[in-house]
Amino acid sequence: MSIFTKIINGEIPCYKVAENDDYIAFLDINPNAKGHTLVVPKKEENKIFDLSKEEYLALMDFSYQVAEALEKAVPCNRVGLSVIGLEVPHVHVHLIPINNMADMQFMKKEKLTDDEFTALAERIAEKFQ
Ligand code: 5GP
Repeated sequence: MSIFTKIINGEIPCYKVAENDDYIAFLDINPNAKGHTLVVPKKEENKIFDLSKEEYLALMDFSYQVAEALEKAVPCNRVGLSVIGLEVPHVHVHLIPINNMADMQFMKKEKLTDDEFTALAERIAEKFQ
């Protein structure tokens, strides 16, 4: 069982941003930038292109809605999108509010307190519709 399935099942906490029957979005615990969000299908699948085309498109549709909320809630130049999955073998889309190329490089990390994570997730969730 992946760590993200444990989050989906409520066994591990997360800073939730959005959810529907099939997808969940929560803040990355080790963010490149403030607001770095992961969008995850509840059905555990390893690689994004193992999803059916319908599942892939539905994931992107949900990610689009989360990105719109992110752009409203977090000051940034734009929202970057990346799919990697080398650390956690459960499909996830990284949505990252970016201001420069370094924000997409997974090298420079932001440290946030529990209160900051909570407030940030709430701010993004308010903009999600
Ligand atoms: P990837 O698999 O795409 O290389 O990276 C996995 C991402 O998941 C990383 O950015 C990492 O910080 C994040 N991550 C790993 N474990 C957890 C966790 O338990 N909770 C949250 N919110 N994020 C996690």
